[in-house]
Amino acid sequence: MRTLAELEPGQCHWPVTDPGAGLMDTALFCAQASLEGSCYCPGHHALAHKPHQPKGIRAAKRFAAIRAALRRLQSRPKVEEAA
Ligand SMILES: [Zn+2]
Repeated sequence: MRTLAELEPGQCHWPVTDPGAGLMDTALFCAQASLEGSCYCPGHHALAHKPHQPKGIRAAKRFAAIRAALRRLQSRPKVEEAA
């Protein structure tokens, strides 16, 4: 698992821990190899895109929060965090 700052393209962006929408910077993400064209690994992709499930709406909101956190990360110089 990795934090948002450590995630690389092609790694699953599914938050394994869920500290809340405003705290995505501190969440841990799955980081397994993601499906082509998806932000998620096969298992989490299936979870995120299950049709007609209330969880799907929640996942979409969560994804929006992740994108917002990513934008914040990318709008400032990358700082290496002490491991
Ligand atoms: Zn995953």
